Amino acid sequence: MTGLSPLTALKGVGPKRAAILEAEGIASVADLFDYFPRRYLDRRTIRSVRELHAGELVTVVGTIRLARLEGSQPRRMRFKAMLDDGSGSLELTWFRGVRYFVSDVAPGDALAVHGRVGFFGRQAQMQHPDYEHLSGGGGEGRSDYDLFHTGRIIPIYSTSAAMKQGGLGSRQLRTIVARAFDRFPPGREETLPEELIRQHGLLTLAQAYREMHFPSSQEGLEAARTRMKWTELFYTQLLFALRHVRLERLRNACRFTRSGELTERFYGSLPFELTAAQKQVIREIYGDLRKEKPMNRLLQGDVGSGKTLVAMFAIALAADNGLQSAFMAPTEILAVQHYLSLKRSMEPLGICVSLLAGRQSKKERNTVLEALENGSVTVAVGTHAMIEKAVSFSRLGLVIIDEQHRFGVLQRKALQDKAESPHVLLMTATPIPRTLTMAGFGDLDVSVIDGMPAGRVPVKTVLVPEQAKDRVYDLLRHEVQSGRQAYIVYPLVEASEKIDLRAAVESFGELSSSVLGDLRLGLIHGQMTPEEKDSVMDRFRSGDLDVLVGTTVIEVGVDVPNASVMVIEHAERFGLAQLHQLRGRVGRGRHASSCFLVHASLAGEAGERLRAMETTFDGFRISEIDAAIRGAGNVLGREQSGMVSGLKLADPLLDAPLMQSARQAAFALAAEDPELRNREHALIKSCYLRHYHDRSPLADIG
Ligand code: ADP
Ligand code: MG
Repeated sequence: MTGLSPLTALKGVGPKRAAILEAEGIASVADLFDYFPRRYLDRRTIRSVRELHAGELVTVVGTIRLARLEGSQPRRMRFKAMLDDGSGSLELTWFRGVRYFVSDVAPGDALAVHGRVGFFGRQAQMQHPDYEHLSGGGGEGRSDYDLFHTGRIIPIYSTSAAMKQGGLGSRQLRTIVARAFDRFPPGREETLPEELIRQHGLLTLAQAYREMHFPSSQEGLEAARTRMKWTELFYTQLLFALRHVRLERLRNACRFTRSGELTERFYGSLPFELTAAQKQVIREIYGDLRKEKPMNRLLQGDVGSGKTLVAMFAIALAADNGLQSAFMAPTEILAVQHYLSLKRSMEPLGICVSLLAGRQSKKERNTVLEALENGSVTVAVGTHAMIEKAVSFSRLGLVIIDEQHRFGVLQRKALQDKAESPHVLLMTATPIPRTLTMAGFGDLDVSVIDGMPAGRVPVKTVLVPEQAKDRVYDLLRHEVQSGRQAYIVYPLVEASEKIDLRAAVESFGELSSSVLGDLRLGLIHGQMTPEEKDSVMDRFRSGDLDVLVGTTVIEVGVDVPNASVMVIEHAERFGLAQLHQLRGRVGRGRHASSCFLVHASLAGEAGERLRAMETTFDGFRISEIDAAIRGAGNVLGREQSGMVSGLKLADPLLDAPLMQSARQAAFALAAEDPELRNREHALIKSCYLRHYHDRSPLADIG
């Protein structure tokens, strides 16, 4: 097997260098080929010093004229060098790791430097630039300087400090890669069949590897990237496609054929009209429920768009057909809230609702378990306490999972396994762009509630510097005096949980004894017992408390329409999705509402996030911005990100058209040959099993 040849088979790599490379995750020749260049030096994209502008990220090529150490105290030392390219000079400065640069950069060296341009007066500067030696060294044929001047595109590899110390700079790596190409040309084992390559106008794998490392032109490089990305996307989508097709073929779900009295009466009991968007998704869901293949649908809707109500319609239809529903939520607070609102809306119709949560006494729990088992209870609402073994249903037909991204695949599956093939509705209040949905949830059908109930006013969002906080409390008091309620939220992150919690509790004490001493304040946080949390939530819900002070436990799903003020302290410490969720706790009724983002600083990414909140209200747009700031994988949440982080080159947002084409091909293949049994698909099957199959705990073919 050529690809698995040890690195030591290459000239220039002894055991020592091999060990250094292995520590970087490059253990074989195949890994070396997958270690793609970080950047390329292309003569046509180089800028001359004379044309530089402040703030630009550029590459400049020239010769070092002057190099010297400045400053006397060891900690203040700087290493400065002047790079001359014939059109002018660029001053380079290094502050950290000065010693290394002193030994590496000397007058006469030809360098390509890459970095952001600054100016001091008229002198162009760059601090801590990336650089590449173009001349001298090694005696390994033509120098980069020559290559460069003959118009080649030169690959630049990233190299860690350990690699550099072991004599494995980008230059040496390039030589080693070139040798590997000569001895073990990569890509001989294709990962895509000829037909797909032809149909989609892709490079062969062998061509693509060559162009990735030693591009013949910018176009060649682009084509190589496309080939690599397309392959990744194809195989990750194939996993979804196979799962989807397998589900399509199931024919054993209960068909909800009767749309009867309960559904009608539930509809009639609503104090408001459904929005057009709600009606549309209810139609989609009812369409699924009437089929004998199980529903597997993701319902996306922005915060406050009325997803719970849609879920209730599905539950009513299940009840009309004599079937039970299980409704799972990620936190106790949320489970209790859903329980209360389901009870309020559905029990008058004779649909019996029960709660299953961790806090219950053994006796209470046993009563509920018994009722579920004998079928006297129609709807169970709960936390993950519902997935325990002891819980069994007499005729479970529908599983609903709220805020599904907070659960793992296995937890969701455990609940589904309580019936043979129940219909499944996943809900999420973190709407994400379509291509991200495909990348993370490609096997699900998707419904989107794309409108808000009538009369909602967008929540006025104001950035408030820490010093001006008192004004916020004045406004808050004013709102409370006119009958509204408010939230004040403090950050709490795992890493500094104890300190954060103490800060929140202390602030609560201060607020209630001073600035807001005249209002009725309640405190809620994760360390309280379920009973304590319940009692505080109850008092807030019923209007016995004016202000709920808490940590992010109130982030998700809490629904008190009378609340109209949300104050977020240290807003700079929250993520964009969290801020959007928190803001969604207000503006849920007819009252004009405000969200105050109190911040200590607007520097960096935090500033970007807060400014985005100020001007953007649409959850889809917010998650796009979030993905642009943090990367797509982070936006999808814990587990789905596994799929996306499996993408080394492709970006589901930027490469949307490639994703579409790869997805179509994957779904067409899965429809034609769901077990990948055909001889002509043997290549795909073996590549899939070898490299992609184990990405998901629920993977399918074997
Ligand atoms: P989310 O999508 O955030 O889960 P909810 O289902 O909790 O939203 O609904 C938010 C609020 O809007 C609830 O108080 C709910 O009763 C109300 N609501 C839902 N649908 C409508 C509607 N069509 N018209 C008016 N209010 C609605
Ligand atoms: Mg909700």
